[in-house]
Amino acid sequence: MGPFPTTRTSAPKQKPADDALAFGKVMTDHMFLMNYEEGKGWHNPRIEPYGPLSLDPATSVLHYGQAIFDGLKAFRGDDGQIRLFRADRHAERFNRSARIMCMPELPVDIIRASFDALVGLDADWVPRKPGTSLYLRPTIIATDVMLGVHPAHSLLYFLILSPVGSYYKEGVKPVRILASDTHVRAVRGGTGEAKTAANYAQSLAGQQDAARAGYTQVLYLDGVHRKYLDEVGTMNIMVRIGDEVITPPLAGTILDGVTRASALQLMRDWGLAVSERPITIDEVMEAGRRGTLREMWGTGTAAVVSPVGTLGYKGEDILINNGETGEITQRLYDAITGIQYGRTNDPHGWTSVVPVAA
Ligand SMILES: *Cc1c(COP(=O)(O)O)cnc(C)c1O
Repeated sequence: MGPFPTTRTSAPKQKPADDALAFGKVMTDHMFLMNYEEGKGWHNPRIEPYGPLSLDPATSVLHYGQAIFDGLKAFRGDDGQIRLFRADRHAERFNRSARIMCMPELPVDIIRASFDALVGLDADWVPRKPGTSLYLRPTIIATDVMLGVHPAHSLLYFLILSPVGSYYKEGVKPVRILASDTHVRAVRGGTGEAKTAANYAQSLAGQQDAARAGYTQVLYLDGVHRKYLDEVGTMNIMVRIGDEVITPPLAGTILDGVTRASALQLMRDWGLAVSERPITIDEVMEAGRRGTLREMWGTGTAAVVSPVGTLGYKGEDILINNGETGEITQRLYDAITGIQYGRTNDPHGWTSVVPVAA
């Protein structure tokens, strides 16, 4: 794959200081694009200066939301090399989202080549300050121009990049989450396993309700019984009761998180008791009351791990580990970030070094 036809920007942007970086507010100088037409397949891969897309107002994605994305990061290591974390697994998940949303898959080697080519070209945009990274946002949208509801015959793949600040500027910090008895995220047979735009649009109301009640995130329960833990916000959830770490199984409603898979692998490497099994909110609350709920945390690319200090449900608040980051949570954070920044060895070969363009 590659090299791809490249039009370099004639007006490079001013890069923000590493200290001023937030999440997803600034984009780099270039973007990768590729088109799909039925009968022709994926074609015309190219890199262009970053800029607006021009879309007809009748473009189907704007009406029916046939859109998928993924999110992964590139890290500048202490040795100066730029590493992607589990790019293959992200590319495979992107294709799984495509299948669920009736979109044509992209060959994994083309996805990977687009990551390497764009990050390599905009390598100077990978920030240097500890904890910072470059976020990659691959996306596919349906571009048929017509108002009938149908799987698209033409689509656009694009990849954009955004330098992001450290999620934890003052160390890993626990959050307050609310188990919702009113909002659900997904049901079996729906789109919960896909990273698709609609899932995030429909999560806004629950998130807003939780924020109004004084919590940072929503813990979603399953949509049928309203009792099994599903996910927290846009993260997978893990709880430690006694010496067992429990996370809900991949059974059709939750996203197969790359951080989730990495955390499970590491904890198994460490010899911890790890179960992927259904767990009810009542079991978690009861453990909280009895004092056996030792840790609870979310996992996701943005934060790596996000410890839960307080869990609210039906008017009751449970304080977990005195509102402090637990031992396994911290150990996972240190281990995963150590691999990402090339500070420790990478026994499972999760990182890949990006070749930097001259
Ligand atoms: C992206 C996402 C996650 C986390 O996945 P990672 O691959 O670990 O970043 C979890 N749940 C939802 C709903 C997500 O969108």
